[in-house]
Amino acid sequence: MPKEFKNYVNGQFVASTKKIEIINPVNGQVYGVSHEADQQIVDAAVAAAKAALKGEWGSMTLARRRELLCKLADRVDERFDEFLGAEVADTGKPYSLARRIDIPRGAANFRVFADTIASISTESFQMDTPDEQGAINYAIRKPLGVIAVVSPWNLPLLLMTWKVAPAMACGNTIVVKPSEETPATTTLLAEVMGEVGIPPGVFNVVHGYGPDSAGEFLTRHKDIDAITFTGETTTGKAIMRVAAENVTPLSFELGGKNPGIVFADANFDDAVDGIARAVFTNTGQVCLSTERVYVERPIFDKFVAAMKVRAEDLNTGFPEETQTSLGPLISKEHQQKVLGYYDLAVQEGAKVVTGGGVPEFGDERDNGFYVQPTIWTGLAEDSRCVKEEIFGPVCHITPFDSEEEVVDLANDCVYGLMSSTWTTDLSKAHRVGAALECGINYVNCWFLRDLRTPFGGVKMSGIGREGGVHSINFYSELVNICVKL
Ligand code: NAD
Repeated sequence: MPKEFKNYVNGQFVASTKKIEIINPVNGQVYGVSHEADQQIVDAAVAAAKAALKGEWGSMTLARRRELLCKLADRVDERFDEFLGAEVADTGKPYSLARRIDIPRGAANFRVFADTIASISTESFQMDTPDEQGAINYAIRKPLGVIAVVSPWNLPLLLMTWKVAPAMACGNTIVVKPSEETPATTTLLAEVMGEVGIPPGVFNVVHGYGPDSAGEFLTRHKDIDAITFTGETTTGKAIMRVAAENVTPLSFELGGKNPGIVFADANFDDAVDGIARAVFTNTGQVCLSTERVYVERPIFDKFVAAMKVRAEDLNTGFPEETQTSLGPLISKEHQQKVLGYYDLAVQEGAKVVTGGGVPEFGDERDNGFYVQPTIWTGLAEDSRCVKEEIFGPVCHITPFDSEEEVVDLANDCVYGLMSSTWTTDLSKAHRVGAALECGINYVNCWFLRDLRTPFGGVKMSGIGREGGVHSINFYSELVNICVKL
């Protein structure tokens, strides 16, 4: 029997007649089905969320809400192995990776925002009045209402709870639409919500696709008070058009084509290690992944050679094998897209340093969605493979001669999510960090995340910032109260 992933509406699991096959990316086999929500199910989920704003949840003390958020984190920890198995089944990623990042962060998001909400202040101003009695203004925070969370497949639990936790901390209610590729951990979280005593209707899940399916039904809904979305820039544009109808507030975490910049004075081994992780972690399917690498000319050849060794040392294995460091891509469709770029790079004149094809295993993985880790050099900066987001285990490496040149090269991009700079010259690191057009600039590190810091992109990489107080600012409405003294 395939595993079934049902919608979760008002505290109950709800079936539907239309099913979506869920495929294991390791071997291409169908292992489960999700129940695609139709308009009626989405309407019921939004209605339940709206009603829950007025019930027990709406009048709950902050202390109790925080206690429940911590219980959610504890319960995810208690059911850690189930979450781990569910995430790996949907994505094919190595257990070692999901054990280190996806599931712990899924739990941590609830703890962090339980703390954050307790430490937020609001502003207050005294003012003069004509009668000289004065007045005092102070702001209070209210929940926005019903939040639509539309999430992607690359870090399913982590990215979904990154939105759900602060939204709940602020007292909102939620309808989540997880990616059609990865319904498992969101459905499991729905069970956990019931187990710890989250009132019915506070957290709802609708499964399905985007256009003309659950994603569009949800984002178009007139009773949605805000949309928080992580995914492709083109999808963001489609959601924005729909959201305009109801002037629904948006928070967008979108695509990227992130640069990594290595100066000749960098600690060479650290830089190779950091860039290799930034290119290949999660098979390049991380929003913070690096696909454009710029290396100062004196160390260019040595750096390319070292990256080739790192790529060829990756172990493309089954998720449960401890030595596995590279999993499959998420789907056949995504594999075809990435392989399309592998072909295009050759047409565009790339030198293929390593990879460029599909690995052969001689077992069930030959039906999975694997590609070889790939490195190119020699492409023109305006070629499509250097400009467009690929979202696979691949990078292009370009030499540069000066700080000014590399800043211009890095900024010549429609995206601006993240950059990493590798140098031992701290003044240079500060200058370059400030000059790069990105929301997040790492210096001598990559993917270090303090969840209190602002996270988000500039240009086509997103709208707004989440993290710490920035999340609270998005998920709450500040209301000013002016009292005449
Ligand atoms: P996607 O845009 O294809 O899908 C994301 C979600 O949107 C899915 O749940 C999908 O069903 C839904 N969706 C699609 N069309 C929709 C529509 N018209 N209306 C409503 N919902 C719709 O993205 P993906 O392929 O799942 O994820 C990969 C992308 O996500 C990459 O571009 C990556 O850069 C980006 N991403 C960005 C961040 C960030 O923080 N900036 C983080 C992770 C991933």
